Amino acid sequence: MASWEVSTSGFLNKFGFQSIRSKIIIFALISTLIPSLAMGWLSYINNQRFLTEKINQELQSVTSHTSREIDLWLKERLYDIRVFSSSFVVSKNLETMLRKKSSKDQRKTARRHITDYLRSVRKKFVDYEELMVVDRNENIVASSAMGKTAVHLPGDWLKRANSGTPIIGTPVWDEFHKTGVMMVAAPIVSARGRLLGVLAAKLNFRTLQKILDNYNFQDTGHLYVISPEGALLVGTQRLDAGFMETRLSPKTTNRLFALEAIVMEFSNYRNIDVIGALNKIPQAGWGIIAELERDKAYAEIFHLRNITIAFVAGILLLVGLSAYLLGLTIVGPLNRLIQGADKVASGDLEVSLPPVTGGELGFMTSVFNYMVERLRQGRDKLAAVNQALEERNIELRELSVTDSLTGLFNREHLHETLVNELARSERHQHEFGILMLDIDRFKQFNDNFGHLAGDEVLRKVASIFKSSVRSCDYVARYGGEEFIIMLPETPMEEAVQAAERIRACVEKEPFSPEGKRIKITISVGVSSFPQHGTGEEALIQKADEALYEAKKSGRNRVVPL
Ligand code: GH3
Ligand code: MG
Ligand code: MG
Repeated sequence: MASWEVSTSGFLNKFGFQSIRSKIIIFALISTLIPSLAMGWLSYINNQRFLTEKINQELQSVTSHTSREIDLWLKERLYDIRVFSSSFVVSKNLETMLRKKSSKDQRKTARRHITDYLRSVRKKFVDYEELMVVDRNENIVASSAMGKTAVHLPGDWLKRANSGTPIIGTPVWDEFHKTGVMMVAAPIVSARGRLLGVLAAKLNFRTLQKILDNYNFQDTGHLYVISPEGALLVGTQRLDAGFMETRLSPKTTNRLFALEAIVMEFSNYRNIDVIGALNKIPQAGWGIIAELERDKAYAEIFHLRNITIAFVAGILLLVGLSAYLLGLTIVGPLNRLIQGADKVASGDLEVSLPPVTGGELGFMTSVFNYMVERLRQGRDKLAAVNQALEERNIELRELSVTDSLTGLFNREHLHETLVNELARSERHQHEFGILMLDIDRFKQFNDNFGHLAGDEVLRKVASIFKSSVRSCDYVARYGGEEFIIMLPETPMEEAVQAAERIRACVEKEPFSPEGKRIKITISVGVSSFPQHGTGEEALIQKADEALYEAKKSGRNRVVPL
């Protein structure tokens, strides 16, 4: 394995990503996550910038328009007052009223003229609640509504009047009309240029209200005018309390006035987080604020962000699912291959995998099935060869212990069996008998009828021996025409009886070589374990001795030792 392969798989294994399926899923997610996050983020940032700019532009344009309009409105009102104050009716009659020489009647007439004039003007101009003429000592000498209100003129009004600068009073809350009102005044000068007093008007903010109401921007947008101290003078949201109760914090007010026309976030007079901007109204030193509720203004942006996140998450889910399914199509056949190989390894060749169509896995699966089939065939062949070998071995083993002519055990096997039987009988303290059997005058038979006939006799005698003993008894050809029969767990007397029975059987058996009836007889010597010896050779020797006795005493008989 290459070193990069080792380190990469080591790294993945550390996080538990060993399987092919998890690697496919990781790859698919990474390759989807990076581009979709990058694209999503870029489009989110662009849209956010676009929306923010749109909001900022709107706030700035609304404040600059309204500030201009309000400034113009105020200018017009100041101009009105100037026109009223410079009216000849006002200056002439006020002069008459102030002249010491004037009679009481003259003064009364002059006041009536001024009052009539003020009333007629008041009727034509809806912006004014009350018009009045105030003398230099701040006494109201005439009013469109005499005695209703006090005059709130700024402290330096006289100085302003002399210098010709506009006299603008402090706005105050009119609880009765539920609107703000403010005194504006202009100097009344005599024909000779002497300052006689001022014409003051109580200006209401209703027109101002209408100007603001015309700017109904966005659904959640609000406009309001504040004093330099932060008190609300008029706004699109109706005020239901006096100015002093409704104001921005000094910190916010200062910041807004300091950073004119810059959109910023702040907490408004209702403690709601808003974004807004302020534009100054130079004439009065006020500021007009346009604001939007922050959450609602950015709702579209938040919505956009959520859509982007949902979109990316959706794509990831889809890709993850496809990768998972793809992984399954690879891992499924692979797992089957692994399980199949495992079974084969544990010796089970009865495995056949379902075919997979096409691809490396399809090829691998068919190769695997072919390989297992070949293994099966090999195993079956091997089993057949093994069985044949086994049978042949049995055959060979039988041949190696069998006498080919008679089918009885041979001398070698006899030796082996005797050794075992001696050990067994010794262990269990059993007796067993040994018979040594010899065909009488067999040489003569051979000489008379030939070797083949002799062989036939040997076979027949062997068969008689086998059929006349128990299945547990043991019959072997000792050599030539001599045989040994071993009778396990048989005492001497019984062994002699068995020998006698066998001898009689042979004697009874008819033999007819070349059509002549011939009687074949046998002589039998009997020895017994442990009576006549505890060794194999000794026992055979004793039986042989007995056989010799049988021959000597006339043949065709059984002689126990
Ligand atoms: P006895 O009664 O004293 O036993 O006389 P006998 O002729 O049987 O004994 P002897 O030992 O003189 O002869 C044994 C004969 O058995 C010699 C041989 O021809 C014969 N013989 C030995 N093995 C075989 C064999 O495999 N086939 C045949 N046909 N004859 C055999
Ligand atoms: Mg013999
Ligand atoms: Mg013989």
